Amino acid sequence: MSLTGADDSRTTPAKYPCPCCGYYTFPVSANTNHGFICRVCFWENDAFVRNTLDPSVCNHGMTLQKGRANFKKFGACVDDMLQHVRPPEEDELSGVDEGVNF
Ligand SMILES: [Zn+2]
Repeated sequence: MSLTGADDSRTTPAKYPCPCCGYYTFPVSANTNHGFICRVCFWENDAFVRNTLDPSVCNHGMTLQKGRANFKKFGACVDDMLQHVRPPEEDELSGVDEGVNF
């Protein structure tokens, strides 16, 4: 009779890790062609990036390696976007890990 289980799964959004900063900011998986921009590092989800040295069209030709280095250095994948990013929220520190590690 109870539909509680189904309701729970609907109200808990799946969070997937951003391949650049590693926080769970994406509502879609890294392989989804969705164009979602990470609010923590401003990396845009790019389904066609398969490794860290693949230039990302969605990110103006930047590689994941460069974006990660920039995030480490000044806190965003491009310095122009530093004003638009925010620190990760508590629920972005963990989420669905798909094993996309490149
Ligand atoms: Zn990110």
